[in-house]
Amino acid sequence: MRKIKIGIDVEGVLADIHTLFLEEISKFYQIDAKLEEITDWEWEILTEKLKEKCIDVGNLYMKWSSEYWKKRWKEIPLIEKDSPSILKELRKTSKIYIVTHRKNIESVKKWLDYQGFEHDGLIYVQYGVSKLEAVDVCLLVDDNPTLSTSANYRKKLLLYDRPWNREVKENDWIKRIYSLKEIQNFIPPPL
Ligand SMILES: [Mg+2]
Repeated sequence: MRKIKIGIDVEGVLADIHTLFLEEISKFYQIDAKLEEITDWEWEILTEKLKEKCIDVGNLYMKWSSEYWKKRWKEIPLIEKDSPSILKELRKTSKIYIVTHRKNIESVKKWLDYQGFEHDGLIYVQYGVSKLEAVDVCLLVDDNPTLSTSANYRKKLLLYDRPWNREVKENDWIKRIYSLKEIQNFIPPPL
């Protein structure tokens, strides 16, 4: 049986790095920052909350999250507790590629092993390049709303529901999912 290829993003799909970042930024700058408030991809709400301090939240996120991956990757929690077993089940019918923009690829690899993920490969895609264009998969599971412009009938986007991507509308090749368990509904039956 030919297995279909599925790409799965790390941050915001498997790894809950945002909660860690929001907890630390709240503590450090004494603000109240919650995940549900992050309703855009550019950290607008946080930038507003920190405007008196003139902080570039995007840069701060890159800096701090890179430190988490380098030194504290064991502390990065899963978004869905049973995601390793969901992917294990999916691998019976599909090839699962983990796709990330994160440069600390060795740390991502260690984190995936530590959490017990089984997969068919870990792929690094340079920041700024669309994962849908760079990687040969039929389905990509990702939380990045900007990927919606590069989805098409051959490469579908399963948008993993997060507060920052709720503006994206579904169409024939963009579908919203609320759990990794829903991926199996999009796998075509064997010919
Ligand atoms: Mg992501």
